[in-house]
Amino acid sequence: TKNVKVYPTFESMKLKPDLLKGIYGYGFEAPSAIQSRAIMQIISGKDTIAQAQSGTGKTATFSIGMLEVIDTKAKDCQALILSPTRELAVQIQNVVKHLGDYMNIHTHACIGGTHMGEDIKKLQQGQQIVSGTPGRVVDMIKRRNLSTRGIKILILDEADELFTKGFKEQIYEIYKYLPPGVQVVVVSATFHPEVFQMTNKFTTDPVKILVKRDDISLEGIKQFHIQCEKEEWKFDTLCDLYDSLTITQAVIFCNSKVKVNWLAEQMRKQNFTVVSIHGDMKQNDRDSIMNDFRTGNSRVLISTDVWARGIDVQQVSLVINYDLPTDKSNYIHRIGRSGRFGRKGVAINLITKEDITALREIEDYYSIKIKEMPMNINDIM
Ligand code: ADP
Ligand code: MG
Repeated sequence: TKNVKVYPTFESMKLKPDLLKGIYGYGFEAPSAIQSRAIMQIISGKDTIAQAQSGTGKTATFSIGMLEVIDTKAKDCQALILSPTRELAVQIQNVVKHLGDYMNIHTHACIGGTHMGEDIKKLQQGQQIVSGTPGRVVDMIKRRNLSTRGIKILILDEADELFTKGFKEQIYEIYKYLPPGVQVVVVSATFHPEVFQMTNKFTTDPVKILVKRDDISLEGIKQFHIQCEKEEWKFDTLCDLYDSLTITQAVIFCNSKVKVNWLAEQMRKQNFTVVSIHGDMKQNDRDSIMNDFRTGNSRVLISTDVWARGIDVQQVSLVINYDLPTDKSNYIHRIGRSGRFGRKGVAINLITKEDITALREIEDYYSIKIKEMPMNINDIM
């Protein structure tokens, strides 16, 4: 990381007045660390690789940078944002819309599982900023419903997930359609080493703003484990915790869709109110579950890793790993769903004897201690 200049206030960035109004209107007062460093690099037109802990405002970092360089008079698509899940693509589009509230911009979420015809209609109306998942975006480009000619900036959010989870080919394909010299901004809280290799193909002499692995461990989130005698006891433990889960909002992670369905059903049989989400559900259902959860109508969500990345619901203060993640880097993403923007968070890992090694590996990887949970949960909340 070279020493990049730090801009301590949004005023000091000399943004367009309408954009500044949108930022304050959205409730931001001062830029976060990543925002004070990366926004101006993006605006300067340089390829940028930006890493910062989860919950520190990376979305607004690239959104503000991008909104500043958009020509609001030009109708064609100028910015393309790719992210790994539909819910995240929609969330990003929403942030862009809010920040650009006074700029009269047209934005669209281009995601799978929605009606193609609707998508095409929206794109034909002219969308200056498109936030999407790679599959649907590549589809729309190939069908010539999304013109890439005017695209100036490509943003890859959760880049290491994009590059390691089977989106690689689609991203290469999309990239081939973009004008030469397109600015590329790569964003993530974690970077697998091989992802850096891959970003070399897309970026030229990028500015790198990175954090050390030890520093991404999210100090604001208290992390515990509860050792259960056997797998079946995890369920009783979870039921005992239920009252604490509903104080604010909580997310429970399982490692498979089948397990998510199973756990939701078991909880309901015991008269606990829970909702669940995973990638095999219909997009309509996913949307309404997300809406209910975002508005606080539902308080306990059971999910697969489809929710591990990027999703921002400020009221989530508790994350439970019913299963430990199989991928160590997902641990930090999962627990990072709580403790957004410096809020307090608690993560509880339910483990059996079989999980002890995996838990130790997570501790070593992040240089943290995941202590046994105290008997009285009120002591930690
Ligand atoms: P990340 O992508 O880094 O995990 P997000 O972009 O989702 O984090 O932001 C996390 C939360 O912080 C969001 O709720 C967002 O509205 C809030 N946030 C971001 N920047 C600021 C800021 N400058 N001031 C106040 N809140 C902010
Ligand atoms: Mg994010």
